[in-house]
Amino acid sequence: MQIFNSLTRKKEEIATHESGKLSMYTCGPTVYHFAHIGNLRTYIMEDVLEKALRYEGLDVKRVMNITDVGHLTSDGDTGDDKMLKGAKREHKTVMEIAKFYTDAFFADCEKLNIKRPEVVEPATNNIAEFIKAVEKLMETGYAYEAGGNIYFDTSKLGKYYVFGDVSEDDLEVGVRDGVEADSNKRNKADFVLWFTKSKFDDQELKWDSPWGIGYPGWHIECSCIAMKHCGEYLDLHCGGIDNQFPHHTNEIAQSEALIGHQWCPSWFHVHHLNTSGGKMSKSKGEFLTVSLLEEKGYDPLVYRFFCLQSHYRKTLTFDWENLNNANGAYEKLVARIAAVYSEQPSEGSAQKAEELKKAFTEAICNDLNTAQAVTVLYDLLKADISKDQKLDLIKSFDSVLGLDLIGHAEAQLKAQQDAESDVPAEVAELVEKRREARKAKDFALADELRDKISELGWEVKETREGTKVYKK
Ligand code: AMP
Ligand code: ZN
Repeated sequence: MQIFNSLTRKKEEIATHESGKLSMYTCGPTVYHFAHIGNLRTYIMEDVLEKALRYEGLDVKRVMNITDVGHLTSDGDTGDDKMLKGAKREHKTVMEIAKFYTDAFFADCEKLNIKRPEVVEPATNNIAEFIKAVEKLMETGYAYEAGGNIYFDTSKLGKYYVFGDVSEDDLEVGVRDGVEADSNKRNKADFVLWFTKSKFDDQELKWDSPWGIGYPGWHIECSCIAMKHCGEYLDLHCGGIDNQFPHHTNEIAQSEALIGHQWCPSWFHVHHLNTSGGKMSKSKGEFLTVSLLEEKGYDPLVYRFFCLQSHYRKTLTFDWENLNNANGAYEKLVARIAAVYSEQPSEGSAQKAEELKKAFTEAICNDLNTAQAVTVLYDLLKADISKDQKLDLIKSFDSVLGLDLIGHAEAQLKAQQDAESDVPAEVAELVEKRREARKAKDFALADELRDKISELGWEVKETREGTKVYKK
């Protein structure tokens, strides 16, 4: 399976082992607020990647952290601790906020059919591991103490900017926002491993350490949690594109300083979801959430479908019109799948079914081309294969796409059956008369009967499977 590897800037095979096992690490959410649908684009595409790897027969172990301490409002080491900001906003403790928004995150994931990773680890469960790692970096000369904090010394590395396309200027974001640059750093790119003396005297969560009471930096959390569960050799690391620098750059710097060899060969980054007004951000206050989509009447899986219709390496712009289009397309797709159930049994074609399978595999193995994979789904519905072959292929493809197509189609059929079984005898008689009138091409009478049916509160519709009656 080929993906675009941000480290080599090439589309290439994800290296696999003979055992078929593959370890996958995903940067989890910072749980100071609800996830916005931009964050969730990243988690949807990572979920599709994981499911595609499983579809290809790999035994995936997926690990995710929950950032409940140490992530400051600027990804450089400036600004406020996001968790503390959330706690103040809601007059709660940091741990209350963390619990509430972690649960809310997984509730959103469930609605979007995003599988929960095998391992989910809050950063605050691993303080001893972080301290051990920082101690080792101090012993080996990769870290230094200045002004009370412990910093990673990026000048000790042969190559720090491993992803290219970024520079020291990207670290200036917080500074431009009016926050003072940290004068303790020996090099501009150095980053904090452990805060003891920060300007936040009211930091709520603090732990004892060899350097005094304090709390960990954000980047060390992911390195340690990934290594705790996946060992020194991680196969695949994922995140949103903004994580590439400085977060993933710093994860690589400190991990490789700790283990003395390459840590992870494949890096998968999902590009951003923007609104027409620009980048979506939790810290801006007003933002788009799964609950908002639901309030407006959308099934969250329509948003998943919307994401799958474009490539993960392209910036995606969200607007309601685009979501409406996705909604219409999703409903039509489900209706077409529901219609498959009433197709006449036929012999089918094993060869055609194989061709469709191959086309689907090619699409997902070609840098996760989900839009192309969805096209194969439409091809399948038109193909000259049997009803059972169609349903089997839909199930199998949807194990990657995660659109609950069979579930939705069966629910639609059941709703139709329930509605039909409730039709009163008087209406059923009029429907039958109308059917005969249509057969006799007496459309004036058919229209008259339709009006009568309508007066009784029912509606007739002609569908591929024949005449249907619905309660208005
Ligand atoms: P956070 O909760 O801020 O730690 O972010 C959680 C994940 O969402 C990270 O992988 C980010 O890279 C990703 N992310 C943040 N903003 C966006 C966006 N607008 N579109 C897609 N992914 C995003
Ligand atoms: Zn991370």
